[in-house]
Amino acid sequence: MISRTIDDNLLNCPFCRRPLEAPGEIKARFGSSFEGGRCECGAVFVYDRDGHSLGDAYVDALGLLCGDDWERVWSLSPDEDYEVLELAYDSRRRKFGNERRRIANSPVFLFLRLKENSAAADRE
Ligand SMILES: [Zn+2]
Repeated sequence: MISRTIDDNLLNCPFCRRPLEAPGEIKARFGSSFEGGRCECGAVFVYDRDGHSLGDAYVDALGLLCGDDWERVWSLSPDEDYEVLELAYDSRRRKFGNERRRIANSPVFLFLRLKENSAAADRE
């Protein structure tokens, strides 16, 4: 795998600590697009630049996690089948902030990863 040279690669996956690539544009259902990416550990992330539409970001991330298999998406239960992490992004320092002190309308990274022992993962 070739690692791209990016200037904001200070971000690490919160699940496995691997360095993450900068979010790229991903085409979603209905012709819209969002910013996000994947980690080698199977985690996916969506970058919500203004923190306004976290609900949409959540749905986008679930689609990404399940490869746009929406029947599967709706069969998953949070905490039971997958883990969710919401991290505020400090664009000035280019790192994640404290998730507990998220400021309204600040950029947010939403991370999702299937639990390895979940029934959903076993069906692969
Ligand atoms: Zn990872």
